Amino acid sequence: MSKAILVLNAGSSSIKFELFRLVHGEPEPELSGQMEGIGAAPHLLARDSHRKVLADRRWPGPDVSEHVKALALIMDGIGPAIAEHEIVAIGHRVVHGGPDLAEPVVVDAAVTEKLRALAALAPLHQPHNLAGIDAATRRFPGVPQVACFDTAFHRHHPWEADTFALPPEFYARGIRRYGFHGLSYEYIAHSLAETDPDLAAGRVVVAHLGNGSSLCAMRGGRSLDSTMGFTALDGVPMGTRCGQIDPGVLLHLMQEEGMSAGAVSALLYGNSGLRGMSGVSQDVRALSASDRPEAAAALRYYAYRVRREIGALAAAMGGLDALVFTAGIGENARDLRGEICAGLEFLGIRIDAARNEANAPVISADGTPGDASVRVLVRPTDEEGMIARHVIATLGLQADASPGDPGNAKSQKAGTALG
Ligand code: ADP
Repeated sequence: MSKAILVLNAGSSSIKFELFRLVHGEPEPELSGQMEGIGAAPHLLARDSHRKVLADRRWPGPDVSEHVKALALIMDGIGPAIAEHEIVAIGHRVVHGGPDLAEPVVVDAAVTEKLRALAALAPLHQPHNLAGIDAATRRFPGVPQVACFDTAFHRHHPWEADTFALPPEFYARGIRRYGFHGLSYEYIAHSLAETDPDLAAGRVVVAHLGNGSSLCAMRGGRSLDSTMGFTALDGVPMGTRCGQIDPGVLLHLMQEEGMSAGAVSALLYGNSGLRGMSGVSQDVRALSASDRPEAAAALRYYAYRVRREIGALAAAMGGLDALVFTAGIGENARDLRGEICAGLEFLGIRIDAARNEANAPVISADGTPGDASVRVLVRPTDEEGMIARHVIATLGLQADASPGDPGNAKSQKAGTALG
């Protein structure tokens, strides 16, 4: 039996999962997948690390109505593929760690209670993350679980990056800018430190552009500011979310136009952003392929707002050494990357068209020695891998090897590197 770590990301109607073998203290991807459509049209799809399909099954809606059942079916579905593995720990993606939790924590009754109390700060996500923890506790009693937070990486922001211009008692009550996508930014920070330590030590803007999009200003591998705020609505527009909006608009909609809070919430979270603006789709591929002018306008707006935030975050750091694009749009949408960067030459950003077209790891044009050119990188993110590393470091999991195996030394190093 080899040891393995299960990483779970439980949403309202889905559970994403990835299994990592513990090899010399490092997580090695073994398989991944998701159960989508819980409560509606459940569909389990799992693939091994070579993308070979391991399980592809559908159920009638009522058969899989909640997370406990869904996790049981996931484990049954991938059972044969993991028969040789012993799950020794489980890592969870949890959206909110509140003002205090700046590191992953081992889940126990007190932690669960604390996370439950934070649900009001992220009502659309936190209860489902907790349902994932509950499902894992029932399915794997006694197996240690670690909660990893999307907010944690941002917990060392300077006060002015975290506060709103409200009387201080609001800050004390938790009304502050938390920032999200922290696990992605932390992964990029570690990855950059390994490959480009000089850049990692400098001033970096990371653009995590996916269905949910945000940007982070990092200096020396630590987050200084982020475009997302109290909720994951703020900042740049997203697939279906509005991004930054004048709060006066919300007052107007509710007070003058009689919209309910629920209707405003549904508008801002579900029917704004690329989908709401275009009326076509939230997917950049569909918008790029569409000949509707609204589709092109939505993409132009998205690029404009991302470009603006790159400038703002560079100003927050007093300059820029590197810009990193990541997540589905950042890693793949060449045209949009080109449009975002066009007009940022004043910051020292110049894209090499052929490199950008090829999705090359470095897409900036070569600078002349001594100039202030910014390195522009395209780098895949790995939030699940980051969670697995946190689980290893938090629980002090040692190498899956016999005493005396040289791999043990590597395990110790990996553990402390992330601690
Ligand atoms: P999530 O926030 O759900 O994790 P992803 O990071 O997977 O999202 O990003 C999903 C988005 O990435 C899609 O909606 C699509 O807009 C974009 N995307 C994915 N592949 C491509 C591609 N080849 N070209 C352009 N855009 C892409």
